[in-house]
Amino acid sequence: MTSPLLPCPDFIAGEWLARAGGTAVFNPSTGDVIAECPAGGAAEVNAAVEVAAAAFPAWRDTPPVERARVFFKYRQLVEANFDRLCQTVSREHGKTHAEARGSIFRGLENIEYACGIPTLLFGDSLRNIARGVDCDTINLPLGVCAGITPFNFPAMVPLWMFPTAIACGNTFVLKPSEKVPLSAVLLGELLEQAGLPKGVFNIVHGGRATVDALLTHPKVKAISFVGSTPIAKYIWETGTKHGKRVQANGGAKNYIVIMPDADVAKTVENVSVAAFGCAGERCMAGSTALAVGAAAERVLPELVKAAKAIKVGRTDGAAPQPDMGPVITQQHLERVESLVARGEQEGAKVIADGRGVRVADAPRGFYLGATIVDGVQNNMTLAQEEVFGPVLNVMRMDDLDAAIEQANRSAFGNGAAIFTQNGRAAREFTLRVKAGMVGVNVGVPATMAMFPFTGWDDSFYGDLHIQGKESVQFYTQQKVVSSRWFGGDVADVWKK
Ligand code: NAD
Repeated sequence: MTSPLLPCPDFIAGEWLARAGGTAVFNPSTGDVIAECPAGGAAEVNAAVEVAAAAFPAWRDTPPVERARVFFKYRQLVEANFDRLCQTVSREHGKTHAEARGSIFRGLENIEYACGIPTLLFGDSLRNIARGVDCDTINLPLGVCAGITPFNFPAMVPLWMFPTAIACGNTFVLKPSEKVPLSAVLLGELLEQAGLPKGVFNIVHGGRATVDALLTHPKVKAISFVGSTPIAKYIWETGTKHGKRVQANGGAKNYIVIMPDADVAKTVENVSVAAFGCAGERCMAGSTALAVGAAAERVLPELVKAAKAIKVGRTDGAAPQPDMGPVITQQHLERVESLVARGEQEGAKVIADGRGVRVADAPRGFYLGATIVDGVQNNMTLAQEEVFGPVLNVMRMDDLDAAIEQANRSAFGNGAAIFTQNGRAAREFTLRVKAGMVGVNVGVPATMAMFPFTGWDDSFYGDLHIQGKESVQFYTQQKVVSSRWFGGDVADVWKK
């Protein structure tokens, strides 16, 4: 018996608006269609942006402490609905419950960050910049901001954006990934319950047509984007051409250097999580291990053992959770498998093979087991393209210099990590590697809410990153006020 489809309405002016049809949303654990994500276009975007523009003046003039209070309440509601949110993320994305919990904690920290907005909005001031003249900076919101998000973190990535944007005094239109729109709907319901005035936060579902309408709408002042590199580049080019501020996070290919002196057990544990956690569908996944000298002999056999022990299964039930869930769609599964096959054709060797894995109670789910490919060379497709699945490439390096050189050949620049006991090697690596987020014995150096998510090169287009103080700067514009007061004796003021 098939279950009824779950509702996936737009949210405009405080109204939940159902629209028929749209893109199929899967439960990747079973392959079943669980919802249809409507395909909004210019009409829906216009409606949402006009509503957000109309709501802006009153929200801008709401004192920051009152705006923060909404997010204190929102924080409570997200915490109270934590399990529901985790289940929604697991069901539409395929993350294990533990992974879903972790991602929502990261999102919750962004709400907590937004609660601090009264102090984050402080300006600078200097008395007497010239005789009798004072100078103050004021941080003011922009107006209507938009967020366009990817499939791989259905709740966390939207939470990277709208709490800070709205706490700064902006209004917001969110366009979630059409592959995972249901977590965003739940986040919107909770924000409504937190008492946010109607029209301050809106959701319009859809794909390219929705995005294009946002990118070209004259009343949208800023765009935050997270997704693949070609689309990030397109968003940045089109958005800036239309006069908007744009921050666009793109894809990645992150290297993990393993030095011969690395702690074997800890390295294996952390590299496994970095490569196979969230089924490798993370922009901070450690997708290539650069094994330096004897590190390959010391660490690789243990890594292969660990990969083979990873249990794959469905994540949509309450039942005991597997170590790893499915990938997002059948099409993506086939793409990842074909990249591994291409690696073999190009001369690499698969030393742990997760292809063809079957999950007995979910034969139509999109499963791939943990896979390790050894002997990868820089000119192979596997080394060049973002795979975005549970596949770890291994490249063997003579020394640290060669490893840094290899990591720095990447067009991307999101994350990089080193496993070593040697402070000097770690210091050299952190200074010389071309990546915005670096881990020392930390496999996934993704930053938390108070630090910016600092991708470089093809992993980021824009000037101010998402999260931390940079996001407050992104969502505000500065006004510098120079003031001087004429008059005689100050005591005159009180005479009348
Ligand atoms: P994607 O680029 O396919 O989609 C992202 C968003 O763009 C979605 O909302 C989608 O509807 C929209 N979109 C897709 N094609 C479009 C087009 N032609 N024109 C306009 N809009 C379009 O990305 P995805 O597959 O959902 O997510 C995975 C990618 O996101 C990976 O490359 C991953 O590395 C990246 N990612 C990056 C970060 C980061 O912070 N750097 C974080 C998470 C994910």
